Amino acid sequence: MYETVTVAELRRRTPARQEITSSMQSEPQDSAAPGPRLQHPFFGRRRTRRPRPVAVEHGAGQLLRRGLAIGVDIGGTKVAAGVVDLHGNIIAEARESTPGHDPREVENVIVRLVRELAPRHRIRSIGIGAAGWMDLANGTVLFSPHLAWRNEPLRDNLEILLRRRVSVVNDADAAAWAEWRFGTGRGEPRLVCITLGTGIGGAMIMDGRVERGRHGVAGEFGHQIIVPGGHRCECGNRGCWEQYASGNALGREARELATSNSPVAQALLREVDGDPSRITGAVVTRLALQGDPACRELVDDVGQWLGVGLANLAAALDPGTFVIGGGLGAAGNLLIDPARRAFERNLTGRGFRPTAVVTAAALGPEAGLIGAADLSRITLRPGHRRGRAVPRAYRGVG
Ligand SMILES: [Zn+2]
Repeated sequence: MYETVTVAELRRRTPARQEITSSMQSEPQDSAAPGPRLQHPFFGRRRTRRPRPVAVEHGAGQLLRRGLAIGVDIGGTKVAAGVVDLHGNIIAEARESTPGHDPREVENVIVRLVRELAPRHRIRSIGIGAAGWMDLANGTVLFSPHLAWRNEPLRDNLEILLRRRVSVVNDADAAAWAEWRFGTGRGEPRLVCITLGTGIGGAMIMDGRVERGRHGVAGEFGHQIIVPGGHRCECGNRGCWEQYASGNALGREARELATSNSPVAQALLREVDGDPSRITGAVVTRLALQGDPACRELVDDVGQWLGVGLANLAAALDPGTFVIGGGLGAAGNLLIDPARRAFERNLTGRGFRPTAVVTAAALGPEAGLIGAADLSRITLRPGHRRGRAVPRAYRGVG
């Protein structure tokens, strides 16, 4: 099967060394196109030290050293505002219930709260956290799921009313930022924060920056389809994660249990004077913490769904830490333990890969306003030119 050739023949068939090297070099030259200089795809710009907040790296100086900031968190039921110091402590707080869906009324509430807090403190910046997709360069809320905001110029309206500069960020980003700066995710280079409330809020802090994707709409983890054909979701699909692992999901399951007349739901029904329609996720969480077995089971079920979704996220994002916060996070280990078990049980390549830490948030429901305040210090730092550059902390956004 072998062909016998002479050395002379072999030399004749083999291209000269010069030809080989020149053909190797010609390929990149041909494909070289004008554009930014490429870096090493895996190791370029990698940080060897712990990521630090960009504002600190760039020395926002006086503002950071002395400044107090007001953070405002616009929730579905209440608007909470607080004066926040450099260490994430809330020095003063004020709140009002959310006045319906009208953007003007919500703006008026924000203005009232800021005017209540600002005169008593030396305020350097104001940050607003709101649910929805933001156009950060223009300070508009493109879409808010629970408020009637469509292309709402929230920042400009508030700046006119308050006569101060204001920054507007997504509320889940604000909460994640607070946990990364001051909470359990402190210093984690790859942090994913899950906020469990009415739905599921998601945010990523990567190398000290809020990651929002190419169009600013990343982090909608709650709408990954986890049960094909499952419960209908407000987003229009069926079987979204937030239909199984949110405060709303917990309330729905508990109402179903209560209306089944099961004897295990007696404590639950007593708590709401026999009216199952008054059962919410918060009621179930409270009873579970008091030791009611049925409510503990319900929280456990939600925790398991939470873990399944986290395993999906780990397959896609490979974070070092998942921080679980929001109202449902108050259930603590009743929720986190089953979530951790389901996460480890469903993790791709389990046993052969490093496993992310799953941990409860440290800052509680105030994380949103703390993060909004802290981000405002950075996005409104001296020298940042409005409307041109997206703050570096928000690189990757629109
Ligand atoms: Zn959905």
